[in-house]
Amino acid sequence: MVKRTSYQTGSEEIPLLCELAGDSAHLIRARWVAGALVLLATVLSVRVLSLPLAEGSFYLLGGFILLYNTALALYTRRYNIPDAAQCLARTQKIILVQVALDWLSMAVFLHLTGGICSPAKPLLLIHVLVIAILMSRQITLLFVLLDVGTLTVIAYLEHAELLPHHCVTPAFPSGMYSDPVYVGSRLAFIALAAFAIGYLTTTIMNRQRQRDHRIAHLLLTTQAVSSTLKLPNLLGDLVRCAAEALSVRGASIRLIDESSGRLVFSASHGLSQAYRDDGGPELSVEVFERVVLSEPPLIIHDVSQDSRLRHPQAMMREGIRSMVSAPILSRGRPLGILNVYASEAYAFQAAHADFIMKIAYLGATAIENALSYERLESAGQERGMFVRMVTHELRTPVAGAQSLVRTMLRGLVGDFTEKQSELLHRVDVRLEQLMDLINDLLALAAGRMGGLERQLKPVPLLACIEQSVQRLNQEAESKHVEITLKDPRSELHILATEDGLGKVLGNLVGNAIKYVQAGGRVGVDVKQQGDLVQILISDNGIGIPADELPHIWDEFYRGRNARNAGITGTGLGLSIVKHFVERFGGLIQVESKEGKGSTFTLMLPLCDPSSLSGPDSPTCPEEASADPEGIVSHNAAT
Ligand code: ADP
Repeated sequence: MVKRTSYQTGSEEIPLLCELAGDSAHLIRARWVAGALVLLATVLSVRVLSLPLAEGSFYLLGGFILLYNTALALYTRRYNIPDAAQCLARTQKIILVQVALDWLSMAVFLHLTGGICSPAKPLLLIHVLVIAILMSRQITLLFVLLDVGTLTVIAYLEHAELLPHHCVTPAFPSGMYSDPVYVGSRLAFIALAAFAIGYLTTTIMNRQRQRDHRIAHLLLTTQAVSSTLKLPNLLGDLVRCAAEALSVRGASIRLIDESSGRLVFSASHGLSQAYRDDGGPELSVEVFERVVLSEPPLIIHDVSQDSRLRHPQAMMREGIRSMVSAPILSRGRPLGILNVYASEAYAFQAAHADFIMKIAYLGATAIENALSYERLESAGQERGMFVRMVTHELRTPVAGAQSLVRTMLRGLVGDFTEKQSELLHRVDVRLEQLMDLINDLLALAAGRMGGLERQLKPVPLLACIEQSVQRLNQEAESKHVEITLKDPRSELHILATEDGLGKVLGNLVGNAIKYVQAGGRVGVDVKQQGDLVQILISDNGIGIPADELPHIWDEFYRGRNARNAGITGTGLGLSIVKHFVERFGGLIQVESKEGKGSTFTLMLPLCDPSSLSGPDSPTCPEEASADPEGIVSHNAAT
């Protein structure tokens, strides 16, 4: 029996392999019974019923069956192949060896029980049935010929007295085995029955296997389409699943362009670049509306003969001979068309077309969702752009006002009364807060901007941490906060943007400094854990109330104790951190106790530094650096 739990490759072969391995195990179990029955029946027939059997030969035969079954059982239990495809081929070979050995045993058994007069002739049909269930039609028909041929040879050899004839049923008229009419008619009926059983069973089994194959692909399609919201990936999965499920040449999806109403090529599988570039829609919009939408699905049995096609020549050049088209409909509204192509004419029947309709149906909702997601994303991006524009426009006047107030505070434009100085000081603090808010809004918009994934590159993490700590050193020193940095000696790289990583570290370390009392402690601990890096940023500050922990990642959320302690902030820092960490494929968690301190744990996937494409030691911009559009500058803590 094949015992396997995991395979390196060939996920498609695994269900078939499991089925075959199970069948092989069944065969072996059944053969124990068959071998034992031969021995038991011999004892009973000879000793109790006194039948004239060649007792010794039967014992030998029973022993032979049990012997090769033992060898098969031991062999199948031992072999262990990590590759599913190889394992499948091996299991098929083992089954072939089994049925071949069974054929040999059956031939001997038939001869010992009377050859063409044997009452055990139905065994031959059972043998054919077993092969038809397990093997292909070709192998089954080969065994039908072999089985019937063997019986014919036995009948001939007994008739020619080259083999002794065993008569096991004394009441049966002797000499029948050499009667040509009896022998001929028996052989003809057995051949007919064996052929019919072989043919019908393989037809049923093939149909069943195709159905299983399609159901498996339908499940795979469901899984694939529900696992992505990205339209190109989704369409790619759909066409691949459709073509692979039917084992045909290829498939394509054309979606309706909302502005022009035309069918636009959106995804394909198995088609050449030339066909994708030049071959316009196979069907006109008119045929699409009149045939595909009103009487779906449309089966084109022979591309060369069908006048409904627009470019039959291009399709023929591509090697397409037949096609099925199914509409992609979402809540009755047509979104596009799914075409599946075969290299042979008349390759598609109603069952195939029905299956393609199901794939199109499955895909429709997923496409609708992906389109909505695309619309949402672009709306979010537009909003982000708007926020960036507005906040950027605000920065210049606020910075100008700040510089004027500071000039006045330094006494460069004359003296102020104490009250006036105090008021100016308060204006400066408010302007500082406003600047923080502007910078955070800009950073948040940058974190949300689409296309960030395309800017990711290997960034040296330890260098970035050191720079962030350096940048906040002055703030820490002014509060007498001690920062301890523990890291592995060798540099680690993560796939990120330098600017984004700078904001993550700046916000977390900045918060730790901001939320500890004077003289407090802040720790930054970096540990490599396999393919990941863990960064712990801890402090012994004011902590976060337990009921507020789930909310601290929300935009503009500020902790109760932080507000009560009069610590200023925008409530945007951790939202910025979360956005960037997610875009870098990492995760962040927090543990905190009010009054005791907090630990933020950051997990990020490491990447191969050899693929570092930028300068050798990139800087870690935060306050000084620009965002992709060169407009962000930011102070660390919010
Ligand atoms: P801000 O610090 O500007 O208020 P953040 O988004 O950075 O905004 O943090 C949200 C809230 O989480 C803070 O208002 C504070 O209550 C809490 N918080 C964040 N980091 C810490 C920390 N290290 N110690 C205590 N509280 C923290």
